[in-house]
Amino acid sequence: MDDHNTIESMSESVEMYLLRIALLQDEDKPVPISVLAEELSVSPVSANQMCRKLEERGMVHYEPYRGVTLTLQGEAVAMRVLRKRRIWEVFLSEKLGVEPQQAEEIACRFEHVTPDGLAERLAGFLGNPTLSPQQQPIPPSIGVALRRPRFPLSGLGVGQKAQVIHVDGDATGYDFVRGQGLAPGVTVKVLAAAGNGSMLIEAGTSQLALSADLARLIDVAPLRFSGSSSTLDDVIIADSGTEPTEINPEAS
Ligand SMILES: [Zn+2]
Repeated sequence: MDDHNTIESMSESVEMYLLRIALLQDEDKPVPISVLAEELSVSPVSANQMCRKLEERGMVHYEPYRGVTLTLQGEAVAMRVLRKRRIWEVFLSEKLGVEPQQAEEIACRFEHVTPDGLAERLAGFLGNPTLSPQQQPIPPSIGVALRRPRFPLSGLGVGQKAQVIHVDGDATGYDFVRGQGLAPGVTVKVLAAAGNGSMLIEAGTSQLALSADLARLIDVAPLRFSGSSSTLDDVIIADSGTEPTEINPEAS
């Protein structure tokens, strides 16, 4: 099996893992491997192995003993598959009269083999639906490039979680920030913020206090997909067929 690290060559099982994690993920809480395994009817051992692979491919964050959360890239794949599923559900249910539950089962097979362009034509044919027959939101588009707003960490509020996208390499304090493990890809959460702009954050398993100046060096993107339609506004659409934009072009 070839191992192209592109969205286009995702295997069905990879897509199903990412989709299942997206559907199980409640806010930013990690999905325990045991729960994921049960939902996918696989052993915890194979779920564990797959999640390690997904982590290597940059699709999930794997926190030992806690579980997995999707990275922006993993989320983009999951949303793309979910959109195909929901569109097929609408077609099967509305046009062919298939029961919603059965429509979802059939759509789960179609979603892995449907080219993006075809899914969009089908969506257009159906009048660009936004809800599935089971009243689930349909992610807004395909050929997704995640261009989330990114802003300095200092712009986050207490309780907000984000993924580090970039650390300003020219600034004083860069070495300190990177030394604290605040590298691109790391998930951070703001625990407290003071009026002077300094903040206490959680990064992985550790907590650190950052001055306002340091917090401004770090660019982040919010992490808050939870399966509801409103949070999908963060996923901005590129032209159908374009590759997802590389979020982290950092060369080092
Ligand atoms: Zn499926």
